[in-house]
Amino acid sequence: MTNLSRAFHDVIQGIENAARQAGRPNAVRLLAVSKTRTADEVAALAALGQTAFGENYVQEGLEKRAALRTQDLEWHLIGHLQSNKAKDAAAAFDWVQSVDRPRIVEALARHRPPSMPPLNVLIQVNIDDEQSKSGCRPEDVDVLVSTILMHGSVTLRGLMAIPSPAPSLTRRRDAFQRMKMLFDALAAQYPQVDTLSMGMSEDYALAIAEGATLVRVGSALFGPRGG
Ligand SMILES: *Cc1c(COP(=O)(O)O)cnc(C)c1O
Repeated sequence: MTNLSRAFHDVIQGIENAARQAGRPNAVRLLAVSKTRTADEVAALAALGQTAFGENYVQEGLEKRAALRTQDLEWHLIGHLQSNKAKDAAAAFDWVQSVDRPRIVEALARHRPPSMPPLNVLIQVNIDDEQSKSGCRPEDVDVLVSTILMHGSVTLRGLMAIPSPAPSLTRRRDAFQRMKMLFDALAAQYPQVDTLSMGMSEDYALAIAEGATLVRVGSALFGPRGG
């Protein structure tokens, strides 16, 4: 076994264990975060069976998607999206998880090519109210929801959060729980809402215990970045 296949196996196992313990076997998807990794590294993981990949930058995502266009992969944008990149993002990704203001919704909806299926979007919530972070405030979710629902070229699939990397597990669990409450309220209203994206290499098991349906894992798969 290569390091990559061992790491992949371990993460899949960790996700399955956490999902089973939470009483939701097979209900959690893995998004492999491939930022800074080469197209060859993505191809190696795809060869092991992984299909969904996450990128932070539009240009980097565009390049990898083009390099791997013969493979049937699903690309997610998980990094902050600037308005002037919305046009490229609308054509390069299957999902945008970082929707956090009405202007971005409008731009993505306008630029989604009619030849492509509707763009799946998640509303990113700044759940710990950090000044430095992107994401909307919890009280702004409703406005974003109504803006998304006005456009046929984007589909609301749920919520995403990057809680502050608090050393205190209690604080992180609390943030995950607040996201789960927001998510349940939304899912009760809209049947297409099925995705709660939270949890990374360090805390995906905790996020799954608190209700995540998709975890975004980079370094636990590919090794430390910049190393
Ligand atoms: C980099 C990144 C991840 C993955 O982080 P790891 O700690 O490497 O698993 C997940 N989500 C977002 C938004 C990221 O930017």
